[in-house]
Amino acid sequence: MPDTKKFLCDIMLYDICRWLRILGIDTEFPKTEEDDEIITIAYKTNRILLTKDKEMYEQAIARDIKAYLILGNDRTTILRNLIKEFDLTIEFPNRTRCTVCNGILRKMTTNEVQKDEIIPEYVKNHHIKNKEIFICKSCSKRYWQGSHWKNINNFIDKLSNDKVDYDGT
Ligand SMILES: [Zn+2]
Repeated sequence: MPDTKKFLCDIMLYDICRWLRILGIDTEFPKTEEDDEIITIAYKTNRILLTKDKEMYEQAIARDIKAYLILGNDRTTILRNLIKEFDLTIEFPNRTRCTVCNGILRKMTTNEVQKDEIIPEYVKNHHIKNKEIFICKSCSKRYWQGSHWKNINNFIDKLSNDKVDYDGT
């Protein structure tokens, strides 16, 4: 069953927002800095507010809006805690969302890739037989497996193999 949990990050959590999108979790980033407006967006879009700001968290809870207070600064720990708390399923790269706009990605056809003017030639030559180029349905950003891919994979492995950290004393 697909996750129906959707999130809204506060403006201090841009990095976490990007990572949640990579992991395939529907996560929006506000265009405003006003706490009040951000809380209202969470309410109107039925998203769980993720915030580092205790006051903002308390305001949201007082308004009966779902919120989660993020503690610490370590990306790995924060993401692990979120995955555990909300029982999130990671599906990388199948459900990865656009890191820029949270849009849904789709595979480009061979034809589209050939005609595309943004994708560099060497990428086309390398990827075209595998049809591994994706495009964001909303903002049209192109995605392919570059050198950063391995790092993402390693990081996700680290997120999944967390027994030691949880139990370690
Ligand atoms: Zn996009």
